Amino acid sequence: VGPAPGGQAATTDKMENFPGFPEGIAGQALASLIQEQAEGFGARLIYDEVAAVDFSQRPFKITTYDREYRAKAVIIATGAKPRRLGVPGEDRFIGRGVSFCATCDGFFYRDKTVVVVGGGDSALDESQFLAKFAQKIYIVHRRDKLRATKHLQERAFANPKIEFIFNSVVEEVVGEEKVEGVRLRRVDTGEITLLPTDGVFVYIGLDPNTRLFEGQIALDNQKYIITDKRQCTNIPGVFAAGDVQDPNFRQVVIAAGTGAAAAIAAEHYLSEQEGVR
Ligand code: NAP
Repeated sequence: VGPAPGGQAATTDKMENFPGFPEGIAGQALASLIQEQAEGFGARLIYDEVAAVDFSQRPFKITTYDREYRAKAVIIATGAKPRRLGVPGEDRFIGRGVSFCATCDGFFYRDKTVVVVGGGDSALDESQFLAKFAQKIYIVHRRDKLRATKHLQERAFANPKIEFIFNSVVEEVVGEEKVEGVRLRRVDTGEITLLPTDGVFVYIGLDPNTRLFEGQIALDNQKYIITDKRQCTNIPGVFAAGDVQDPNFRQVVIAAGTGAAAAIAAEHYLSEQEGVR
């Protein structure tokens, strides 16, 4: 499961659209419940990081930093990671004002000013969370239209702490020891301004965690794993579920659904291999 269970879901403050929780549920709490349920059915969780896989031999070989595992079937659910802006100052100030996780770091910005970059669901959802702490939130978006769903837009527009800066991109994160501001460029006029801020939260989409599988499994042009309707990859016995194979929805309920489908498909595959069915 990597170093901690729950993945991106565990970093979500409140999940309002997972079925069965009409009041919403904290991502971490949901992850713990799912873990408890899986362990109740006999799943064993191993906290380790995979360094390499070899799907050319059978049983498949999965190597972690201190062990090697063999498996007759594998379900890949390595998820996706936040995309970076790729501008000067971004990497340098990670942990010193640049963050990709409001749930993890929002608390440090009590009564401070923060910039959120992006115009999708994540940017607006996480801005609402940040508004619990920060005194001012600027959402910087590169277009004049938001990608986020209507209800998130309405909530953001209604929040007096949130102000939008449209048609603008962050060109540089500036500061001495920590973030002190961002250099913005208007995409329509080219005008450059310096916006003072204590923090920058980047929410510009996700990239799938597929580096381990490059050259071994078929990936699409955005590097998502290609799966069929039964969650099978191009290698019999290797399945994939969740955001690592989903460039479209990236919702926990859909990830859970594809996880269930992959588990059923893997079970069928193993039964067929052993001639039980
Ligand atoms: P997203 O929907 O891909 O949106 C990314 C945003 O960042 C877009 O507005 C995009 O601008 C902007 N962007 C991309 N690259 C950029 C760059 N280099 N510089 C500046 N801006 C850039 O990603 P997301 O918001 O993380 O959402 C991911 C998925 O999770 C979506 O399917 C979303 O529905 C889901 N999600 C749902 C919820 C919820 O249901 N409450 C919450 C969070 C996430 P353009 O609009 O111009 O492309």
